[in-house]
Amino acid sequence: MDIDHHAEELASALGVDKAEVKADLQNLLQYSVPLDEAKQSVRRKHGDSGGGSTSAPSTKDVGAITTEDGNVTVTVRVLTVGQRSIYYQGEEQVIREGELADATGTISYTSWEDFGFEAGDSVTIGNAGVREWDGSPELNLGNATTVAIASETVETPFDDRIGGESSLSDLEPGDRGRTVDVRVVEVEARTIDGRDGETEILSGVLGDASGRLPFTDWEPHDVVREGADLRLEDVYVREFRGVPSVNLSEFTTVSTRSEPVAVSDSATRLSIREAVASGGVYDVEIVGNVLEVRDGSGLIERCPDCGRVLQNGQCRSHGDVDGEDDMRVKAIVDDGTDAVTVVLDRELTEAVYGGTMAEAREQAREAMDKEVVADRIRDRLVGREYRVRGNLSVDDYGANLDATEFAEADDDPAVRARDVLAHHDGGHGEASI
Ligand SMILES: [Zn+2]
Repeated sequence: MDIDHHAEELASALGVDKAEVKADLQNLLQYSVPLDEAKQSVRRKHGDSGGGSTSAPSTKDVGAITTEDGNVTVTVRVLTVGQRSIYYQGEEQVIREGELADATGTISYTSWEDFGFEAGDSVTIGNAGVREWDGSPELNLGNATTVAIASETVETPFDDRIGGESSLSDLEPGDRGRTVDVRVVEVEARTIDGRDGETEILSGVLGDASGRLPFTDWEPHDVVREGADLRLEDVYVREFRGVPSVNLSEFTTVSTRSEPVAVSDSATRLSIREAVASGGVYDVEIVGNVLEVRDGSGLIERCPDCGRVLQNGQCRSHGDVDGEDDMRVKAIVDDGTDAVTVVLDRELTEAVYGGTMAEAREQAREAMDKEVVADRIRDRLVGREYRVRGNLSVDDYGANLDATEFAEADDDPAVRARDVLAHHDGGHGEASI
């Protein structure tokens, strides 16, 4: 088909002048825009999203918007407004992101312009683009979009989400414009290679009554110190090493709270199935049986450059290297709902081995076989029930739990005492019959 043909087809579909359409198309093609894209642009110029012949965006309830929609007009309550600076086509740009709601549902949005609305406002947003984000529809507010204050407050069952106040356990990757009251449990300064050379950032762990999460402060705020009780307004959440991570930016307002924040000492207790289904959990506790201690446990050697475990003295990236000794355990733990690979670091491995790394090396030397160390660990762990605390992540190879605590499930003295009493009572009762 030649360009005349395309222009004629488009012109009749859009109900506009063919000469104008042809001129637009030619102009775009001259800049090496692919034909399909050029046709889309011309359609958009004439108010057609490409879906059908209607030119005006349709007014929709939030709950009825699908990724099939082109442009829509909605009347909504603004739940959250978060700001973030991004690089788009080589330029730094501040975008606003958050959530909108009406009586029928909620929807995320990204705004490329500052329309000035705030959390709690009721607004009519005209001609917002609909795009797919993570499988769900999201509104895209650009320079063709209009925003007007609505004549009445929009009623929504999501009022409690206005302003984005959240507990740490509520946060999920993708959340933006959230407000949390937290204590800084751990913090350290780190230097990273940023876009503008070396920059200092803060990273650590935040806590509240619901749990703990790692955080990164990309624009170090002075009051972010260990033990500080803080209100953080406008944070966003990303996935980092398989778990949700709280991000503070230049747009985050950090204030010191006069009231201390209660921090939970205990990890979230979940079944392995629940933990795996969540896609990743920071500081979780599971209880299950060790089914197997996998190969690559016991005494191992790591690459001095990248820390990878060597296979036959070889690093996957650095080849033949002089390995450094280390100890670890990779154990498969099953609680009846699912299984997870629990990874113990050197300290926990020494504890379950019942000796130091020097002693393990000595044992291996005498036996002239490293495997004796893993075998001893196997003998001690397999078939027993353990309480494991740590961070669970899920990747293509399965679920891993990096343990921070690993203890036999019934080693809680109170539980053991109850068990002993229960056995004792039973025996006594039978004996007295
Ligand atoms: Zn290496």
